[in-house]
Amino acid sequence: MAQDTTKIALITGSSRGLGKNTALALAKKGVDVIVTYRSNEAEAQNVVAAIEEIGRKAIALQLDTSLTKTFEDFAGQIKQLLQDKWQTEQFDFLVNNAGIGVHAPFAETTEDEFDRLMNIHVKGVFFLTQKLLPLLKDGGRIINISSGVTRFALPGYAAYGAMKGAIEVLTRYMAKELGHRQIAVNVIAPGAIETDFADARVRDNPEINNFIASQTALGRVGLPDDIGGAIASLLSEENRWVNAQRIEVSGGMFI
Ligand code: NDP
Repeated sequence: MAQDTTKIALITGSSRGLGKNTALALAKKGVDVIVTYRSNEAEAQNVVAAIEEIGRKAIALQLDTSLTKTFEDFAGQIKQLLQDKWQTEQFDFLVNNAGIGVHAPFAETTEDEFDRLMNIHVKGVFFLTQKLLPLLKDGGRIINISSGVTRFALPGYAAYGAMKGAIEVLTRYMAKELGHRQIAVNVIAPGAIETDFADARVRDNPEINNFIASQTALGRVGLPDDIGGAIASLLSEENRWVNAQRIEVSGGMFI
């Protein structure tokens, strides 16, 4: 029997927002998806159903990316799942997308807020990727998610922006150290996008929305559809030589 060449992506935080959009965009390109959610299983199952409707395989697993102690078990679950559902030992694409927004001025950011962001946006990405490395194919890809706020400074995002800056540096180190396995690692930096992120400020606050639109060359705020397709196309075979790059997807915000 011919070997199944369907690619498999694992996308953290794909029950909602940009992760969900990326999952659907990849499914439309023929990729199967392992969806992860932190709290809302029903939402994640809806994403699985939508992917299956497109004709691809999918499954949803619970994962809190701030809990590094659980990663070993999670990797074990993935290993078993790859065998049971895909009859394979490794997956192709890891998208480290899960994240939260904390909007607080530098002078008022608490240590708890800082730690929460650090655990999800930096420590979680570092150690989850480390634990999943044996399950990622040689020639596979990793995409980390940063933000426009590493290029421009927006008041209220000091801690968050610093964490995303760390992810951009980490991306280059990952690319350097995983190159011998032909694994390309890039970081996508979305501009402000209308999702639930950071209390849905960009989507639901007309003042913020209009301000961002006025500061964006293409004249509007970003939508999830502007991001998922960009990530899916970066993961295509045609983009295999793109490596260690920060690619901003912001419609030209604050240029
Ligand atoms: P949403 O709030 O819409 O979705 C966040 C997703 O991440 C959900 O699936 C959520 O799961 C999951 N998640 C949150 N915390 C954790 C955790 N501790 N462990 C595992 N999963 C978790 O956010 P976006 O889709 O907008 O954001 C996705 C990524 O994009 C983030 O990394 C964010 O920093 C980045 N980004 C977003 C921008 C924007 O303007 N929206 C701009 C630039 C970057 P659950 O539903 O279970 O909580």
